[in-house]
Amino acid sequence: SAPQPVHQRILLKLSGEALMGDDAFGINQATIERMVAEVAEVARIGVQVAVVIGGGNIFRGIAGGSAGMDRATADYMGMLATVMNALALADAMGKQGVTARVMSAIDIQQVVEPYVRPKALQYLEEGKVVIFAAGTGNPFFTTDTAASLRGAEIGAEVVLKATKVDGVYTADPMKDPTATRYTRLSFDEAIGRHLGIMDATAFALCRDQKLPIRVFSIVKPGALMRVVMGEDEGTLVTA
Ligand code: UDP
Repeated sequence: SAPQPVHQRILLKLSGEALMGDDAFGINQATIERMVAEVAEVARIGVQVAVVIGGGNIFRGIAGGSAGMDRATADYMGMLATVMNALALADAMGKQGVTARVMSAIDIQQVVEPYVRPKALQYLEEGKVVIFAAGTGNPFFTTDTAASLRGAEIGAEVVLKATKVDGVYTADPMKDPTATRYTRLSFDEAIGRHLGIMDATAFALCRDQKLPIRVFSIVKPGALMRVVMGEDEGTLVTA
């Protein structure tokens, strides 16, 4: 029989920057289409996919804060930026024949439906991709924390953190040619070696909930599918 996926339900964390492609700002349509094609492939083989999308390609609260804005206000702007990305992502999914539902942690009901956990679970069971927008809904947090939080809430088997690099390395592989990729790490090793996989809040939540994190490349074609099929791809951080 055909090989089966090792995951039934995943939480995919996409940074806002992943949608930028080679642009300096905003959403690159070709990039988003390519990314959505990778997600569509795993959704089609029956893997339940939830996505947390960042907003850094549009606005980051910390930038607003350091420019003199009230930090909480700037963070709300950042959360709204993730809603824009979520809409673009859902639109691109629809165009590729994947039904997606955006659920926002901040009420903007004329635009997207609010996050309601049982409804999110229902959508996932129906095979719809659920895109979580507006992070945790709270300033001073990040979308990485939203990924840990929603991942734990929906009972995802793993948080897949999509990055530009295909895993966690002993040193920056762009600068150090001798750098090697970790295949597997424990949460404690990741902390002890200061590997900075996610911010401390996001990381602590995954560790407490024993929710594994896999760091993998979203720019490498087919990597998401290989992750879902249990092949050696990226770096797995587990208890
Ligand atoms: N943000 C927030 N609370 C959250 C998630 C996000 O205040 O729970 C704000 C914060 O200002 C952040 C911005 O939204 O800078 C965009 O999110 P993030 O920086 O995590 O996006 P990414 O780096 O993944 O693109």
